[in-house]
Amino acid sequence: SGARVRRARNRKLPQYLERGVDVKFSDVAGLGKIREELEEIVKFFTHGEMYRRRGVKIPGGILLCGPPGVGKTLLAKAVAGEAGVNFFSISASQFVEIYVGVGASRVRALYQEARENAPSVVFIDELDAVGRERGLIKGSGGQERDATLNQLLVCLDGFEGKGEVITIASTNRPDILDPALVRPGRFDRKIYIPKPGLIGRIEILKVHARKKPMAPDVDYMAVASMTDGMVGAELANIVEVAAINMMRDTRIEITTDDLLQAAQIEERGMLDRKERSPEMWKQVAINEAAMAVVAVNFPDLRNIEFLTIAPRAGRELGYVRMKMDHVKFKEGMLSRQSLLDHITVQLAPRAADELWYGEHQLSTIWAETADNARSAARSFVLGGLSDKHYGLSDFWVADRINDIDSEALHILHMCYDRAKEILHQNRNLMDAVVDILVEKKSLTKERFFKLVELHGSIQPMPPSV
Ligand code: ADP
Repeated sequence: SGARVRRARNRKLPQYLERGVDVKFSDVAGLGKIREELEEIVKFFTHGEMYRRRGVKIPGGILLCGPPGVGKTLLAKAVAGEAGVNFFSISASQFVEIYVGVGASRVRALYQEARENAPSVVFIDELDAVGRERGLIKGSGGQERDATLNQLLVCLDGFEGKGEVITIASTNRPDILDPALVRPGRFDRKIYIPKPGLIGRIEILKVHARKKPMAPDVDYMAVASMTDGMVGAELANIVEVAAINMMRDTRIEITTDDLLQAAQIEERGMLDRKERSPEMWKQVAINEAAMAVVAVNFPDLRNIEFLTIAPRAGRELGYVRMKMDHVKFKEGMLSRQSLLDHITVQLAPRAADELWYGEHQLSTIWAETADNARSAARSFVLGGLSDKHYGLSDFWVADRINDIDSEALHILHMCYDRAKEILHQNRNLMDAVVDILVEKKSLTKERFFKLVELHGSIQPMPPSV
């Protein structure tokens, strides 16, 4: 038994497993007929033997197609949750690496983990990032991607019809996928998830309202009527913003008015994304450039892959793709310093806004990243990483919560000052990156690092907490 214990200890923790996935179909609203199709997939897990005996083919892969924010990820989780199986997930953009072989080996590792922990659902987000028709991308990047895609095909074939590991992938562009991916036995089932209609929007609002203190007379119909074209992610946002509204006024119930106001804010956001004025483009560019310019100073965060300010429906304003090790990050394996660096990067947009537009003209485009920073700072303190050595147990002691918050605030201030300092020292670099972003809307890794070489300044010393 000593050997067994040792073996158990040596076994690596699965990297791609998402723990505690507890989503049920009842959490996904407005699906109509799609729900039946997905219930059938659950049955492949729960009644696999029956299907096999009757000679029914169990699919290897299911493709969920539809625009961002309609609930594709949520659905994949619900399938795993309803079937009571493990959920493994990766975003295909994480497969696409510069170094030859890395993408393919990640695919192998992902499927090996899924098999070892079967039955399981493997979820691949943004399949088109790796699944574009082969040969379309020239040069060595293309070759690497092809190797990754080939490996994925091999893994899919390994499970065909077995029903222990079912792959669910999401994409907004099923039309550009490599034909080999959609051959029988691979992603041979396509399920389209459209934007919700009026009734769908009412149902989605209600699902999110379940966990909130809603006034009994809330008029969901009114809110659904004025949110034409919005997807689940946006509707979920509206309920969150409405709750903030309520709390700001120290009321105890969310009213129709709160929801309508929140819907207006979301709507304006949508318009901003669609029709940006030149000033708005510049502001978004400053926001994104700031994160990249600050991140490049930090060892664990400097792997910037791509910058863009092109709007991505329903999501962020722009986005900086950093090759930060998300798995390490989620599992809490980043060093203390890297966590502080991470907080600093998340505060960079706020600091840039202050530097470029001044205290009195702050916008709110950094709200999301500032929020990330706040919660990271809190976790930092609760994780016992600050000098004051608070721990999780302190969280339950009422008069400690203030201490924890003020310590978190202290960390936020420190990281904020550091972000500002880095940006200040790198004004030339910022200007160069912003100019190109505004003009071209995106910036490759090569181009970005060329600018860093030309305009970047020396890295300032990290502060100590
Ligand atoms: P996608 O994968 O299609 O981009 P997600 O599944 O990530 O979209 O959706 C983001 C969030 O939006 C979900 O976590 C959920 O809170 C909300 N959401 C989206 N669609 C629905 C839906 N049909 N019912 C309930 N909530 C939804």
